[in-house]
Amino acid sequence: MLRKLIPDCYVKTVTYYSADFFRSRGIRGVLFDIDNTLEPYANPTPSEKTRQYLQSLTDAGIQYGFVSNNHQKRVELFNEQLTAFACWKSGKPSGKALEKARIHFGLPKKNMALIGDQLLTDVWAAKRYGILALLVVPCCKKEAFYIKLKRIIEKPILLYYKVKYGGIAE
Ligand SMILES: [Mg+2]
Repeated sequence: MLRKLIPDCYVKTVTYYSADFFRSRGIRGVLFDIDNTLEPYANPTPSEKTRQYLQSLTDAGIQYGFVSNNHQKRVELFNEQLTAFACWKSGKPSGKALEKARIHFGLPKKNMALIGDQLLTDVWAAKRYGILALLVVPCCKKEAFYIKLKRIIEKPILLYYKVKYGGIAE
């Protein structure tokens, strides 16, 4: 199981995962977690920076969508202007929403990636399902109590990653 919690890449900010990053790895469909990956919980809509980043993927011919474990209202409001593929209450680490997205994109698994900030939901979901698992440092330190508990479990795994791969990319 531990193997399925180790991300393929771990970076400080989501924009590191640029169109070139994806192109060089053959990724043509990208799934994003929303909370603390693209925006803090407190931001109901995407920032200008996030919109520009997502647009840069579209411009490069890369499809994107959202798979969030958060509720319908949060996801729909976030996606209102973007009108991308979106799943709420995705139940990650289940791969159900990822499979829906794959069918929507019309792509094989080898051309897909999932970007998130949590090992026990995002990375595990991507690894179980069999797509590229990309991790980011949470963009906001303020988190719910139950997520703080999960961070305690994440700590030794992330330490292992940092030792093995020599740290987190900027
Ligand atoms: Mg998250």
